[in-house]
Formats: sequence, structure tokens, C-alpha cells
Amino acid sequence: MYDPLVDNCPGPAQPHARSYWQATTKTQLPKPSAILPERTNCIVIGAGYTGLNAALELAKRFGQKVVLIDANRIGWGCSTRNAGFAMPGTGRLGYGDWQKRLGDAGARAIQAEYQRGFDRLERHLELCPQQLQVQRGGYLKVAHQPSAVEGLRNSYQTLKEFDPNTRWLDSDAIQARIRSPQAHAAIHFPQSFGINPVLLTASIARQASEAGVTLVEDAPVQHWDKVGGLHRLHTAKGRVCAPNIIIATNGYTPNHLHPSIHGRTLPVLSSVIVTRPLHAEERQAIGLSSSELVMDTRTLKYYYRLLPDGRLLFGGRGAIRGKDAGHPRYARHLLQALRGSFPALRELTSEPADYYWSGWVSVALDDYPRVYSPEEGVYTSMGYCGAGVTFTQIAGQRLAELVMGEELPPLPFYQSPLPEFPFPHFRRVGQWAFYQLARWRSL
Ligand SMILES: Cc1cc2nc3c(=O)[nH]c(=O)nc-3n(C[C@H](O)[C@H](O)[C@H](O)COP(=O)(O)OP(=O)(O)OC[C@H]3O[C@@H](n4cnc5c(N)ncnc54)[C@H](O)[C@@H]3O)c2cc1C
Repeated sequence: MYDPLVDNCPGPAQPHARSYWQATTKTQLPKPSAILPERTNCIVIGAGYTGLNAALELAKRFGQKVVLIDANRIGWGCSTRNAGFAMPGTGRLGYGDWQKRLGDAGARAIQAEYQRGFDRLERHLELCPQQLQVQRGGYLKVAHQPSAVEGLRNSYQTLKEFDPNTRWLDSDAIQARIRSPQAHAAIHFPQSFGINPVLLTASIARQASEAGVTLVEDAPVQHWDKVGGLHRLHTAKGRVCAPNIIIATNGYTPNHLHPSIHGRTLPVLSSVIVTRPLHAEERQAIGLSSSELVMDTRTLKYYYRLLPDGRLLFGGRGAIRGKDAGHPRYARHLLQALRGSFPALRELTSEPADYYWSGWVSVALDDYPRVYSPEEGVYTSMGYCGAGVTFTQIAGQRLAELVMGEELPPLPFYQSPLPEFPFPHFRRVGQWAFYQLARWRSL
């Protein structure tokens, strides 16, 4: 599998991941352009949610000529590989953390920005004939062991100030919803919902195409220089120049794409299995309803949801290096973790899962993403730390506003560059040490 810290660029012509979403979703993507224009107002690199939203906004609201290129197919990265949890947040900091840093007003401003992400997501949902196959049941953050209950309860005390709709579920209440030895209490966030990520990608791509965006596939940027004051990108499909370039490559960003962003995120593999459809008795045994999204309180979290056709999707962190991503031991590890959550699914977890795939998420050193301009005419948004389904919708809009010289809201996401990792060459060593510690702590 492509590895951003090892390989020059992803693609061209890499097929989509063999995911449940790709195998089962029928949708219409806009026809890409066969020709790469030589010059335009703005080039967006990366056709995931970030790049698609930025391109849509630039073309539709600001009337810009936009060329959106991807190394492979539209949505080839995380945007078609994720678990489809639409949640209020991004990065790894909760409202409690933001309240400590910024006070009540600052944390409320962040909450309002997350809401704008939800609002855009709802618009993309309305414009999708299958309504993104939405499952509205909220999200449960579950204490996976008794010692995690107190910390979770403290988070709830802060949270309910911001969102009075959140609910605390004690041990009996959570066991009535999920029959698992790893569910001791939970916070319920009713606003969250599950979506089909391929349908979301297609919905935004169709809108971008209708707004006049030129979409070019199989055009990995292999080299970047400047000519006559313009940025010039050398791709597998030829060269293209523009005064403005948006880097929307997130976890797939090759190490040397542009010096201004080098070493500022850590690409981390997230992996998912999808089982066969559960039998009625299996569903009854685990209690999980078909509409709830679940994530636990581990440092290296596990998350799961029942899909519309009764299969169970279960995800967590994967391998460290791209070349190990497809190794069966990582799928087996997820199956074992699933069995730990639901011992009643012994038979199901003794068979290989029907689907297993991985994708690169980008982790920021200080746990939250940034939308900023690292150099004149260059703009980027990355570092969502694996929580980008909702936030990328608004991040794309903010990127477009930044390109057009508009002032962004005074929120931490928009005030500073991504900090550089110390000793970036040793990011993976640090990651390995962090994984060992987190696993030992969660035992
Ligand atoms: C298994 C998994 C589960 C996840 N589950 C969730 C979830 O439930 N909820 C949630 O909020 N988030 C989840 N995420 C994270 C979420 O999917 C991402 O935050 C989001 O999709 C990021 O979108 P993006 O557009 O920024 O990047 P991506 O969708 O990754 O797009 C980046 C694109 O850049 C392109 N690219 C890279 N380099 C080049 C180059 N040199 N030239 C041209 N193109 C290039 C790539 O081909 C790729 O298509 C999950 C991620 C994974 C992997």
C-alpha cells in the first residue's frame, strides 16, 4: 500500500480500496476531464471532502476557474474509506479542553463552527438521491472499563453545559442498549449520524462539477516549481499553472510535496473490518440498534456500527507502515477486539471478515487541524486526527474564503500554522512507542 513517508506520490491509476462501500454502493460520479488545462485561477490538489468542498465554494460562490486534481480517482483517499461517523468535533480535543484554553465563549464559538460543518453536511445529504443512506441514532461514547467511568462522567458534566441534549447513560442504561462486558457507562450525542462515505463524496463531486470545476483524475503531482510568478505543478497528465494552490492531500500528503508543510503531520493508518450480516439471534444477543454509532474511551479507540444491511463495521488503528497494512494479522486483531466487545459473537469472529481495508489519517502534533497559508499563494487544511467527516465540510469552505482574502473567524483552527514535529524523521519511532504505551494502559 502507498506510504506517504516512503513513496514519491500515490498513483496514478491505483484502484479504489476494496471496501464494503465500494462493493455495495451504486452512485453516479461526474465524468472527469481527459485534458489538464495549462492555466487556471486555482488548483486544488486532492479530491477528498476537503478539496471538493473548497473547489465547490471557489467556483460556485466566488466564480473562480478551478482545476481539482487527484493522484487517482475522485475520493480515492480517506473520503471513501471512512466509517461514516458524522460527529460534532475534529482532532482530539473535546469541549472541556477548549473551555480550559479559551473560556466559555471560545468553546461556544468552536461549537458553532462544528454546527456549520453539520449544516453543510445536511445540504450534501439533501442533494443526494439516496440521502447518504443516513442512520440517525446518535453517537455513544462508551467507557470500556470501570476505571474509565469517572473521567467520562466529568466530561459529561462540562458537555451538558454546551449541549443540553447530550445524555448520561449509567451502567444499566448502557447495558439495555449494548450487551457488552466493555460498556460500563456512556454519553449519548443525539445529533450525530451515520452516513455512506462514497455517497457523500459523489454528492459533493456532482455539485462541484455542476458549478464548473474541472475534475482531473490520475494526475499525481510529481514536482512543483514556479514560473513567471505562478506556481507550476508537474503531474502525470502534464503541467498546470496557477497563482493559487490548495493542498488538500491530508494523510496522503507525500513527504516532499511542498517544503512549507514538510514534517507537520504524522500519517497514521486506520483500519476497518465489515462482517457478514448478523443473524437475528446475534443481533438480539448484542442488543445494538441499527442506528447508533459507538466509540470507546481507549487512547487507541475502537469504533463500531451496524450497517443498513445488518453487517457490523468495526474499526481501530492499523499497521504503522504502508507495506504492512494488508497483512492478515491486522484484520485478525480487529476481529479479536470485536470478540472482546461482544463475546456472544464467537461464531462470527471465528470466520474471516468479509471486508478489510485501511486508510491514512493525518495527526497534528498538538491534536487539532489548521486551515492556513504556509506561503504566498499556497493554502492547506490538514491534521484532523481521524475525525474529518463533519469538519472537512466547513474546512473546505474556509480554505476557499482564505484564497479569496476573506478574514476567517478568530478560532484556533485558523490562527496559526501546523506545528512541526520535532525530529520529523523519527515520527514513526515515536508512534511505535506511543502505541506500546497506549496498549499497555488499556489492558
Ligand atoms: C478507516 C478510516 C475510518 C475513518 N472514520 C471516520 C469517521 O467515522 N468519522 C470521521 O469524522 N472521520 C473518519 N475518518 C477520517 C476521515 O475520513 C478524513 O478525515 C477525511 O476523509 C479527510 O478528507 P480529505 O479530503 O482531507 O483527505 P482524503 O480524503 O484522504 O483525500 C486526500 C487525497 O489527496 C490525494 N493526493 C495525495 N497526494 C497527491 C498528489 N501528490 N497529487 C495528487 N493528489 C494527491 C489522494 O489521492 C487523496 O484522494 C476515517 C478515516 C479512515 C482511514
